[in-house]
Amino acid sequence: MVPTVKWCVQVAVQTPAHSALGQTLSYESDVELAPGTLLRVPLGRRDVLGVAWSSAPVASPPAADGATADGAIALRPVAAVLDALPALNAPWCELVAFAARYYQRGLGEVALAALPPQLRDLSTVQLARRLKRQRPAAAPVPAADGRPDAALGSHHAAPSPTVEQAQALAGMAAGPGPFLLFGSTGSGKTEVYLRSVAALLEHAPAAQALVMVPEINLTPQLEARFRERFAPRFGADAVVSLHSGMTNPQRLASWLAAHSGAARIVLGTRMAVFASMPALALIVVDEEHDPSYKQQEGARYSARDLAVWRGRREGAKVLLGSATPSLESWQQSRPADGADPGGRYTRLLMPSRIDAAPVANDAAARSGAAAGAGALPEVRLVDMNLQPPKTVLSGALLEAIGERIARGEQSLIFLNRRGYAPVLACGDCGWKSECPHCSAYRVFHKIDRTLRCHHCGFTERVPRACPACGNPDIAPVGRGTERLEEHLGELFAAIRRADGSAVRIARIDADSTRKQGALEQQLAAVHAGDVDVLVGTQMIAKGHDFRRVTLVAAVNPDGALFSSDFRAPERLFGLLMQSAGRAGRDAAYLAAKGSTAQMWIQTHHPQHPLFAALRRHDYPAFAQQELAERRAAGMPPFAFQALVRADARAQEAAQAFLNAFAEQASALEGADRVVRYPAVPLAIQRVANVERAQMLLESPSRAALQRFLAEGQPLLHALRRTPEGKGVIRWLVDVDPQAI
Ligand code: ADP
Ligand code: ZN
Ligand code: ZN
Repeated sequence: MVPTVKWCVQVAVQTPAHSALGQTLSYESDVELAPGTLLRVPLGRRDVLGVAWSSAPVASPPAADGATADGAIALRPVAAVLDALPALNAPWCELVAFAARYYQRGLGEVALAALPPQLRDLSTVQLARRLKRQRPAAAPVPAADGRPDAALGSHHAAPSPTVEQAQALAGMAAGPGPFLLFGSTGSGKTEVYLRSVAALLEHAPAAQALVMVPEINLTPQLEARFRERFAPRFGADAVVSLHSGMTNPQRLASWLAAHSGAARIVLGTRMAVFASMPALALIVVDEEHDPSYKQQEGARYSARDLAVWRGRREGAKVLLGSATPSLESWQQSRPADGADPGGRYTRLLMPSRIDAAPVANDAAARSGAAAGAGALPEVRLVDMNLQPPKTVLSGALLEAIGERIARGEQSLIFLNRRGYAPVLACGDCGWKSECPHCSAYRVFHKIDRTLRCHHCGFTERVPRACPACGNPDIAPVGRGTERLEEHLGELFAAIRRADGSAVRIARIDADSTRKQGALEQQLAAVHAGDVDVLVGTQMIAKGHDFRRVTLVAAVNPDGALFSSDFRAPERLFGLLMQSAGRAGRDAAYLAAKGSTAQMWIQTHHPQHPLFAALRRHDYPAFAQQELAERRAAGMPPFAFQALVRADARAQEAAQAFLNAFAEQASALEGADRVVRYPAVPLAIQRVANVERAQMLLESPSRAALQRFLAEGQPLLHALRRTPEGKGVIRWLVDVDPQAI
C-alpha cells in the first residue's frame, strides 16, 4: 500500500483550567493547515471550536485496528475547517501564547477566551452566511480641499490642537515609543488620541487602531466622539466597539469587522487587547493606571501590559495616557539622569487644562470650545475632627453645594460604598448582619429592605427584630450611597432652585444601573442638566466629560489611607485626582457663571502627605515619594510579584497546600532568587463557604520569577493529588497581582 501523507495538527481548544491535558491536542487532517486556522474538532462527544497551532506530516496511514503502523494511537480527524475566515495571524497567535505562558494558564483557555463566544456555536454554513452580510472597508471620502483636517472637520469641527497637544503629537511622530502621555484631567488627552488615530488612518490606507478604556460605561461617550470624527470620512462601519456589555451577535459582528480589516478603529475594554487586527498600527490605552485593566478571573492578564508587549511585537505604536499614571509606567518613563539611562517609555507632558489662548482660531470659535482659563479645581480639606460628632456633611460643604444649586450648577458627591448601610446591628446584644457564608457583613439595602452579601450574593429580607435576642430596634451602622442620597434629600428639602422648584438629587452606582440602558439614561440626565446633586461610587469619578459640574466632594476617603495593601495610597490618589478632574471642565461655563471649580475632601487626617500633594495637583511629587518608599521596601516596580492562591473547605487545608508547595519549591532552580512569604488568609477569608489563602512570591528579577512559576506549575498539579492537596478545591496563580 502506498502511504498517503496525512497531517497531524496541534489544536488549541478550550480545556478545563488546570486539567492535566497538554497545551494543545493532536488531530488528523488530509491537508496541511496554516497556524491560526479556525477549526471544529471532536472533543469527547462534542465538536468544539479550536485554533490550529502547527501541523506536521505523518507518513503512515492508520491500520484498521485504530493504531498506526508504528503503534501510536490513531488521531481523530478534524471535523471542519472554518475556511471562510482568514486564519488568525502569527502575531495574534504569539500574543496568545505569550499571555498563556506569562500568566500561567492553558494555551487553549486563553486562545478561546480571546475569541467571540458566538464563534463557538456557529457551523461553517452559518458562518459563511454571516460573512456574506459583512461589508468591505469603505473607501475614504476624499478631503474637500486636500487637507485631511478639512474633511475631518466638515461636520463637527475638530479643534486646532493646543501648543501642548501639538507637542505631544510631534513627540509621538518622532519616536518609536511606547509613550506615556502624562496629561492633567481636561488637558485634552482624548483629542490627542483622536488626532494620532487620524494621522495614522490618513497615511496608511489599511492601518487599524485599537483604543482601550477601562470601563464599559466610558465606551459610549468615547464611541460617539470617534464616530463623529471618523464616520464622515471613513464610513459608519469604520468604528466598532468590543466589550462585555454587548450581546454575543454584536460582539461577533465587531470581531469579524476587526478581523477582516473593515473596521479601522476598535474601541474596547481590556478584552479588546486580544482583538484580531491584521493591520494593527497603533494602540491607545486611556487611563492606563486603572486597576480594571487587570482581569480578575481565569487568565489574570493585564491588558495594559499586553498592549505594550503586542505593540512591540507588531511594530505598532503604543500610547498610554493618564493624569495619574501607574507607578510602574511612571518609573518606566523616567528621563535619563546621570548614570541612569532612563526608562524604556517616552514621557509626553500636557500639564495645562484646555485654555482659550492657544486655540483662538476659526474652528475652535465655531465649535464654541474653550474660553477663559481652564484651571484645575481648588482642593479644600475639611478636618472632620473639628466637626460636631456624627457629622456626615460639614456645614461649609453644604453651603458650597447650596450656592451651586442656586446658580444652577451641578455637584458630585463620592462615597465608595453602595447600599444604605454597610452593617445592621442590635444595640442590646451586639448582633450584626454577618453573612453566614462569608467572613463579611451583609449590606443593608433600604430600597427593597434586604440584607445583601456583596461577596456571595446571599440575600434575605431584613428581619423585623434582632434574630439573636428579639429586640425590635435594630439599626443601620455607617453609611452607603443610598443613605447619603436620602440624607441629602432631607438636608435640601427646604431649599429651592432659582426657578422655585425642588432640588433634584440622583444616585449612580452598581445598584441604580443594574437594568440595561439605565446608566446611559442616568448619565444623559446629568449631561442634560436635569440633576443638581449626584451621589455615586467611583463609577462617576472616571473619565466623564461633565460640563456643568463645578464642585466635587469625597465625603469619606480615609479608609484607604491605612490599608494593608501597599497600592492603596496610589489608588486613592488616582481616584481623588480623577474625581477632582470632573469639576470645572468647561472654562467658559465657569466664567459665565462667575463660579470656581472646587474639590472638597472630608478627612480625619488632613496632615497626611497624600493630601498635601493632592492640593497642589502634584502627581510627580506624590509619585516620587511613593517610589522612594517602594524602592526602600523592595516592592514593585522595583521587584516583581506573584500570588499563589488556594481555596479549600478549611483554612488550614488551604494554607498547608501552599506551605507544602513553598517547601518543595525550594529545590527548584533559581529558588534562591524568589522570596516565598508564609501562606496567609485573604482579607476576606471566607466567601460562599470557601476558605481562601494566598502566598506572596517576590523577586528582584522578572525572569527569575517567571522561571520559578513555570517550574512550580507541575509541583502544584502533583501536590493536588497528595495528602497536602486533600480538601483543596482549586488553586491559581496571579502574576503581577493588583491587590495583595
Ligand atoms: P482629558 O481626556 O485629558 O480629561 P478631554 O480630551 O476630554 O480631556 O478634553 C477636555 C475638553 O476639552 C473636551 O470637552 C474637549 O472637547 C475639549 N478640547 C480638547 N482639545 C481641545 C482643543 N484643542 N481646543 C478646544 N477644546 C478642546
Ligand atoms: Zn439583639
Ligand atoms: Zn456572603
